[in-house]
Amino acid sequence: MSDQTAQPILSVHDLCKHFPIYSQGLLKRQTGNVKAVDHVSFDLTQGKTLGIVGESGCGKTTTGRAILRAINPTSGQVHFRHDGQMVDLAGLSNKQLKPLRRQMQMIFQDPFASLNPRMTVGALVREPLDIYHIGTMKQRTEKVKQILARVGIRPEYSTRYPHAFSGGQRQRIVIARALILQPALIIADEAVSALDVSVQAQVINLLAELKEELNLTMIFIAHDLSVVKHICDEVAVMYAGRIVEKAPTQQLFAAPHHPYTQTLLSAVPNPDPDVPMNLGVTGEVADVGNLPNGCAFHPRCEHCEAICKQTIPAQRHTDNQRLIACHLKPTLDEQSHREHENETANGIQVINQP
Ligand code: SF4
Repeated sequence: MSDQTAQPILSVHDLCKHFPIYSQGLLKRQTGNVKAVDHVSFDLTQGKTLGIVGESGCGKTTTGRAILRAINPTSGQVHFRHDGQMVDLAGLSNKQLKPLRRQMQMIFQDPFASLNPRMTVGALVREPLDIYHIGTMKQRTEKVKQILARVGIRPEYSTRYPHAFSGGQRQRIVIARALILQPALIIADEAVSALDVSVQAQVINLLAELKEELNLTMIFIAHDLSVVKHICDEVAVMYAGRIVEKAPTQQLFAAPHHPYTQTLLSAVPNPDPDVPMNLGVTGEVADVGNLPNGCAFHPRCEHCEAICKQTIPAQRHTDNQRLIACHLKPTLDEQSHREHENETANGIQVINQP
């Protein structure tokens, strides 16, 4: 029997979301596209968490929304494992999508906006069970109590309204609501960005515990790399709608390869007051409605060469687990070729450099 956990639960291939730009005036001709998400591909296996990071406007939230079909992708495939089969979500009608939606839940950034202030916490957490007619009312109420207790909210508070809770408690309620249907996939979009730093740590720890306990598969979207480091197994760095580097979390943080990842990581604050502060990437974020030729990062890249201004770098493997889109990074094949040449020339064993 095949190992289901080793197979992708989600396989995104060449996903694009382009928004048309129209001219002013009566005719309103299409003059271009905002390439919010451009040829994004990745696989995600059961129980793993993929972090998607990048500056505001890089396309990370749009990627999450296009995967869940909250917006319709322009092109590409989003294969999702359902009843042992891979189903392309991008090609399904809304009616066909409905039974799959309970398998995919989203946790939004703002816990104040994502909870209806007129509903009690108990009713809010129970609502997904009501919509899908799962269990009797007694069973639903019992399930609500259990899940509230698990996320650290006292079940007797279920008759209270959202305004009676702090930001951190509200995000716990949002997590309870997302988990009550036992989804196969959770997309957490800047789930802790609106919270105080001390509360952020509590919510991150809760998500990390739930991930282990329930074998959750998650996409964790964030602009804060220090948050991603604690919860993700793999990280994809996005710039101007594309993934520019993807690697296992430890490898990415230990040795970032792409110039954009390097500058993002160097801007993470260091608690040591003697370490000088780096203000991060300089220059303007690329305008996805009017991208420069070649590599979209080239106007901000200190390693930019002539080819960078002409050709968009293809995504390539630089080692077995790392993908990168940069002209100046050799591929795995090029590295082994160079090593072989050095070995032949010097008669010595060359150790592979990171
Ligand atoms: Fe910099 Fe060129 Fe690599 Fe783009 S392709 S990140 S401009 S070195």
